[in-house]
Amino acid sequence: MIREKREGRRWKTSIFHLLFSIFCLMTFSGCTTEYNLATQQQETLLYGTEKEVAIGEAVAAQWEAREELVTDVDVNERVQGILNRITAVCDRKDIIYFIKVIDKDLLNAVSLPGGYIYVFKGLIDKVDNDDQLAGVIAHEVGHITAKHAVKRIQNAYGALILQGLATQSTAQVAKGVNFALTSLFIEHSQEDEFQSDRLSVKYLKKAGYDPRAIIKFLEKLKKEQEDTPLRQYSYWRTHPFVSQRISVVNQEITGKLEFRDYLNLMGD
Ligand SMILES: [Zn+2]
Repeated sequence: MIREKREGRRWKTSIFHLLFSIFCLMTFSGCTTEYNLATQQQETLLYGTEKEVAIGEAVAAQWEAREELVTDVDVNERVQGILNRITAVCDRKDIIYFIKVIDKDLLNAVSLPGGYIYVFKGLIDKVDNDDQLAGVIAHEVGHITAKHAVKRIQNAYGALILQGLATQSTAQVAKGVNFALTSLFIEHSQEDEFQSDRLSVKYLKKAGYDPRAIIKFLEKLKKEQEDTPLRQYSYWRTHPFVSQRISVVNQEITGKLEFRDYLNLMGD
């Protein structure tokens, strides 16, 4: 019964993808359909890589004009070294990844479309080791390889509204990007969070880091969350569902669903 339902859903999804692809081919010139190694799905996107990178670049420039970056060489070399190890084994190689540290006492890390990752200094001060920091960075790489941000723009604006945007040139798209779009890129759905977590476990294992460090760090965050009021860029605002995420990571590492994890995943 469940299997039938799942297959029915899969069938409906395939039809939707097929119709959407035809619709795109007929209507847009900027549409691309490709197999995404990270999500292991055929995806039809209104924005190709070139436009995705242009959007990320435009928001990154606006972000960096507002925020102070950490210039300390050791700190930058540390995050860059970790990023290099992760991107060497990740599912997406068609872009250049950038990582910068924002000089703010905030416990968070965010990513923008096209390969831009920002870690806040407060988070670097909080991690116990490179494995934990690698867990955070791999999670952000996961958002980029799965193209969550581009899909959010697509969903938020709807195919029809995007018709004009999809046929615009890369320069026009970049110019039209508003800083207000940032929240669209950095606040993720539960499903996207879980997908990035699963990808982060995969990338950490391949890169030779300990994936259990993710659980340690999430548990630390959970404790912090209970003691601190919500701020604009709080980690649990842009990366909610901490308890459920611990269960997802646990399941991904062990391949088993413990009863405690099952309860966590069933809750809210
Ligand atoms: Zn996330």
